Amino acid sequence: MKSFILDTGELILVDTGLNFSGASTIKSTLEKNNYMLKDVKYIVLTHSHMDHIGGLKDLSKNGVFEVVSHNEDADAIQNSTGVKVDRRINDGEDIVPGVKVIYIPGHTRGNISLITNKVLIAGDTLRGVKDGISPPPSNFNANNMEDIKNLSRLLAYDFDYIALSHGKDFESGGKVAVEKLIAQISKS
Ligand SMILES: [Zn+2]
Repeated sequence: MKSFILDTGELILVDTGLNFSGASTIKSTLEKNNYMLKDVKYIVLTHSHMDHIGGLKDLSKNGVFEVVSHNEDADAIQNSTGVKVDRRINDGEDIVPGVKVIYIPGHTRGNISLITNKVLIAGDTLRGVKDGISPPPSNFNANNMEDIKNLSRLLAYDFDYIALSHGKDFESGGKVAVEKLIAQISKS
């Protein structure tokens, strides 16, 4: 499970790993890249699953940042972590200028991906598999039909690189790959 650091002039951390060890990996990765946890302005949580939010509590002890999630997952995140979601965002909103939210409910009610500079930060909306990308396994989805239907929301955006929480990032031709995936699913 991967988390992501975006430096847009303001530092954004996307997801927090599973638990204490996720949090300490994030801290050491920040330091390796000459950042400090206290430089992080926003923590965006793509959804409420524990492997994405488990490090939040530990990080919040040592950082001062705004916690951001979609409204539909915010209560679940607060209940699991004891950390307040400061900002509840909606589809099409910018976290900061140039980093936009794409709301794709299905994996969870409040699942989001982000798009910045032709990079899709998919979160769990897509995952890396041996021969490319796929949606999450149906038993991981709160509502699998909704998840599959909403994948097409990605096509409103232009992107090349897909950053994936699970599996190897898809480094180029991302949008064409998503178009193919959706066409394949709708045939089957
Ligand atoms: Zn998930």
